[in-house]
Amino acid sequence: MTQPPEAHPPEPRPHDAAIARDIAARRDDLVALTQALIRIPTLNPPGDCYLEICEMLGERLARSGFTTELLRATGTPGDSDSHPRWNLVARREGGRPGPCVHFNGHHDVVEVGHGWTRDPFGGQVEGDRIYGRGSADMKGGLAAAVIAAEAFLSLCPDFGGAIEISATADEETGGYGGVAWLAERGYFSPDRVSHVIIPEPLGKDRICLGHRGVWWAEIETKGRIAHGSMPFLGDSAIRHMGAVLAEMEATLFPALATRRTAMPVVPEGARTPTLNINAIHGGEPEPPEGSTALPAPVVPDRARIIIDRRWLIEEALAEVKAEVAAVMDRVQARRPGFRWSMRDLFEVAPVMTDRAAPVVTTTAAAIERVLGRQPGYIVSPGTYDQKHIDRIGRMQNCIAYGPGHLELAHQPDEWVGIADMEDSARVMAMVLADLLA
Ligand SMILES: [Zn+2]
Repeated sequence: MTQPPEAHPPEPRPHDAAIARDIAARRDDLVALTQALIRIPTLNPPGDCYLEICEMLGERLARSGFTTELLRATGTPGDSDSHPRWNLVARREGGRPGPCVHFNGHHDVVEVGHGWTRDPFGGQVEGDRIYGRGSADMKGGLAAAVIAAEAFLSLCPDFGGAIEISATADEETGGYGGVAWLAERGYFSPDRVSHVIIPEPLGKDRICLGHRGVWWAEIETKGRIAHGSMPFLGDSAIRHMGAVLAEMEATLFPALATRRTAMPVVPEGARTPTLNINAIHGGEPEPPEGSTALPAPVVPDRARIIIDRRWLIEEALAEVKAEVAAVMDRVQARRPGFRWSMRDLFEVAPVMTDRAAPVVTTTAAAIERVLGRQPGYIVSPGTYDQKHIDRIGRMQNCIAYGPGHLELAHQPDEWVGIADMEDSARVMAMVLADLLA
């Protein structure tokens, strides 16, 4: 009988102690930088203050020896002269050849919403927390990456390879004016970057390997218009859609619930494929709010739903689509005159970085040294910019790792923990030391 290997704390590496001291000494700077980022209200939509935040960060990184590029994604969705889609890419070359480690953070934030008890753009500090829209998602992570890079540079000025930091637009609305646009121009290709870390708020002790896939589609049922007092002279598209929804409840939702992925998706409930009906519409338009007009009696000749199907790495998109088409075919077989169409709106393939990939194993080893425990490995239920780095950039050595609690993202009174930012900055600086020193 063999004994299980004894668990013992990982060996510290040469720069670990100096990194810990240096990051601790930069605590005030880390807080101030996070506050400065929060105080620029980069709301998306519409895409406010993108140039301002890129310039602020660019000037800072230039002082730390980075070469900076400000890049406008002209012509991408939402780009206009009043709301230009600006991105920052900063690069610092080492003294000798080596790999390039890239930290990518989106600089846009979602709308404020209701329920705040603090100023969403104040950057107020209370105890260990900094409050503000985007504090967790993901200005705190971006600030931690900047501090990590600066700490590493002060300790190892003659490193090998290169460090890049990018602050990119529009992640919250698909990333087309940000990472996708940069990836199309080679900024995330393997001949330029070797390791990518996206400091999204997944928690300082977890490594996010990727995300599930997405398919959005519009399904329409067709009918024939008639007077509402004589519906037998028409054909109700809404009743047809009702039959579609009933068929989905009877067969499709139960089928999805039986499948499970090997992807470590969190939360647990997202380990099966999911289907959300995002919207439904049929018949005449809704009256404007406050209208006292009565509706007209009309048999609806069109009804539409928008479906949001999240798919697993074990599924094929063609089969996912065929499964929904089969629902429609079954309804058609039972209902005379049933006509329908389906239109694709959006699709993203699932991605999952290999656990043996160097950026994963290096980050895992650093987390163990900082926190004294092994990291959790997770996959996100929804997508983020890794999709573009994977599909357009063809760069598979990419993870999301950063401070902050995912549940706070997009919530009122969003906050990021200062100690968490310090710990993850230490991890990121150690990753740089392990890969570049
Ligand atoms: Zn985010």
